[in-house]
Amino acid sequence: MSLVQARGLVKDYRAGDVVVHAVRGVDFDIEAGAFAAFVGPSGSGKSTLLNMIGALDRPSAGTLTVAGTNVGELKRGAAADFRGEHIGFVFQDFNLVPVLSAFENIEYPLLMVRKRRADERRKRVLELLEAVGMAEQRDKRPDQLSGGQKQRVAVARALATNAPLVLADEPTANLDHASAYKVIELMRRMRDEAGTTFLFSTHDSKIMAEAETTFVLEDGLLRIDQGGVA
Ligand code: ADP
Ligand code: MG
Repeated sequence: MSLVQARGLVKDYRAGDVVVHAVRGVDFDIEAGAFAAFVGPSGSGKSTLLNMIGALDRPSAGTLTVAGTNVGELKRGAAADFRGEHIGFVFQDFNLVPVLSAFENIEYPLLMVRKRRADERRKRVLELLEAVGMAEQRDKRPDQLSGGQKQRVAVARALATNAPLVLADEPTANLDHASAYKVIELMRRMRDEAGTTFLFSTHDSKIMAEAETTFVLEDGLLRIDQGGVA
């Protein structure tokens, strides 16, 4: 089975009497090793889809299987375990811990899983700092880094626990074009080297062209000329 499989996937948000149909029945398959993008204007449902794939939010209807797990059936605790094991996240606004250095931000998810000895943890963080080109900035805090550098740290953090799937919601939206390309190129290289599947969203057509597969969203629906398979 595909790494991610959606069938008739629906998400409605209810706010009082108002129902927002954020995702209105989509089908798609994403294979392991894909470098794929959800593309569409603001409000088209990109974040909603990524949040459901990452078990941060539950489908209203349809099925969504990620790494063999029906994520729509996970209870809160099981969803957290699922995320810890399978998913790395990269956010538009970086979400680094301000008081921690680049090194410590990358180390943070490794402290949560507690599986590694301190020397192994350190080795992994140094390896990632090297891989994302941030070894020399290892002791700097986020406020001492540029946007592009922050996002490189965030990508390293997402990869720290060897999650097979990294979800990046508009990872380049707060970056200038040169930095944006570097972050996308870095993600693709990490896919090539580590085999990590990357699924990102963007509303930028230039960034979209960097994906190997694109799923174009319009008002919660996938445009049907996509084929729907990555
Ligand atoms: P995108 O990421 O493509 O900008 P979103 O997935 O954030 O789109 O939003 C899709 C639609 O769902 C929008 O109409 C948005 O206003 C609505 N929406 C998103 N999250 C919520 C929420 N928590 N409550 C109510 N409506 C929401
Ligand atoms: Mg969004």
